[in-house]
Amino acid sequence: MFTLAYTPYILPFVLSLVITAALGSYAYRRRHLGAASTFALVMLALCVWTFCYIMELSNTTLSGKMFWASAKYFGAAPGPLLWFLLSLQLTKNERWLTPPAQFALWTFALVTIIVVFTNEFHHWYWTRVELVPGLPESQAEHGFYFWIYAVVSYLYILSSAVLYFRYYRSTPALYRRQAFLMALGGFVPLTGRILEDFFNFDLFPNVDNVILLFLVSGLLFALAIFRYGALDIVHIAHNAVIQNINAGIIVLDQSTRVVELNPFAQALVPASLAAPIGKPIQAVFEKFPALSVKVRADQEVELHDANGARSFQVTSSPIVDDNHALLGYAVVLSDISLRKQAERKLEALARTDGLTGVWNRRYFYELAEAEFSRARRYARRLAVMMLDVDHFKRINDTYGHALGDQALKFVAARCGNHFRDTDIFARYGGEEFVCLLEEIDPEDARRTAERIRQDIAQTPTPAGNQTLNLTISIGLAFLDEDGPILLNELVKRADRALYQAKEDGRNCVRVWRTDQPVVGMK
Ligand code: GH3
Ligand code: MG
Ligand code: MG
Repeated sequence: MFTLAYTPYILPFVLSLVITAALGSYAYRRRHLGAASTFALVMLALCVWTFCYIMELSNTTLSGKMFWASAKYFGAAPGPLLWFLLSLQLTKNERWLTPPAQFALWTFALVTIIVVFTNEFHHWYWTRVELVPGLPESQAEHGFYFWIYAVVSYLYILSSAVLYFRYYRSTPALYRRQAFLMALGGFVPLTGRILEDFFNFDLFPNVDNVILLFLVSGLLFALAIFRYGALDIVHIAHNAVIQNINAGIIVLDQSTRVVELNPFAQALVPASLAAPIGKPIQAVFEKFPALSVKVRADQEVELHDANGARSFQVTSSPIVDDNHALLGYAVVLSDISLRKQAERKLEALARTDGLTGVWNRRYFYELAEAEFSRARRYARRLAVMMLDVDHFKRINDTYGHALGDQALKFVAARCGNHFRDTDIFARYGGEEFVCLLEEIDPEDARRTAERIRQDIAQTPTPAGNQTLNLTISIGLAFLDEDGPILLNELVKRADRALYQAKEDGRNCVRVWRTDQPVVGMK
């Protein structure tokens, strides 16, 4: 049994053994993932099978070879069955495996082992075994049970190939490669066996082609597992919750390629992009935030679909295994469009003046500060205009506050008409308005102010059933090279000029002069 001698015939089998053992231990370490434990068992069966075959080849006595040829069936009997069970699991057809069916299949595997070990009493498996000098294997003629075993094994492998093929046709593109490789991996040894048994075609003479072809299977499995993550991601997203949840769920692999989308997320994919599976997430959703590798990321994005733009809260969490190795990411998109709309409304409300609809003073400073520093940086011209309705208190006193409000609204709209889109026009407070005019030289600013003054003076202001004749006074100040000042100071200068306009009898335009001190300024 242990009369061993080295033969070079064993070398490819040793290589095959190493590969299957490595794959098996890799799968075993991930046994909590879907079908990984079954896959580890398949690899274990192949290892036993291959190891015993190496021992069979290395043995020099017929009895030693016979022992190991029989021991081989600890792997060879359950191997094809496990392979079939794995395909049921991977293609989600486990429901076919009722307890009675499972019992029958395992019983057959057990009976095969018993038949093999008791062969000398009945010769059902081998009818005659002999050593042929120069050949590494003992040569045998097979009994009827061998053929039963062979046919059942073919059926297992064929069925799993059919399962993978059906799965291939109904599954997203990325799983297809896995399904294809797994099917091919099972098919290669089968093809070898068929060629040998039925066509007498010996690919590798003198040794068992099937076992040698496990090497090819192992490499194909390795490709399916390492390159396409056959054991890792396939099972993560397949449940009803994910399919029906009212949020987008996207599963990404380690390199942030899309592996799975639920229907909600699928609906957000631009129509021009036919098959998002396998593409980088950024190629699917252009606006997608870059995903950080380890940390949980929370970001907001706006995506466009047939119904227009919608806002989403994007939460991405890494998917890791027990050893904290990164398998991919689970990305959840929750629709926050309504909240965003409300926020935008609130923001707009916080920026505008409720009565006149123009910007309020706070937002004026926000916009104007940015514009002011830009103008200073690029030495651009800029003007600030202050406008104030003359004797407005009398209007209120005479016609009431409500009518005053209407008049104020009209005046604001009328003034606003004279400004450009880039000018920042706001209610400064009460019946006083402010405007920051960009890229304007003093003469143009003065002309604009004069036009506004005349327009208000000449246009009757509607208020209730009557019309009022209102006038306004305007103060102007300019940003020039020699004035290293702040926006607030420029506004104060315009206000000082406005005060001057009031002093000079109202309904006129005044420009700030350097000899006019401004309160609160150095
Ligand atoms: P002057 O020509 O000097 O500017 O005289 P004025 O009466 O317009 O000046 P003053 O600043 O003394 O009075 C402003 C008045 O504007 C006081 C207030 O009754 C009125 N006012 C301020 N805000 C509003 C408003 O929102 N609605 C109404 N109806 N009146 C307002
Ligand atoms: Mg006034
Ligand atoms: Mg006033």
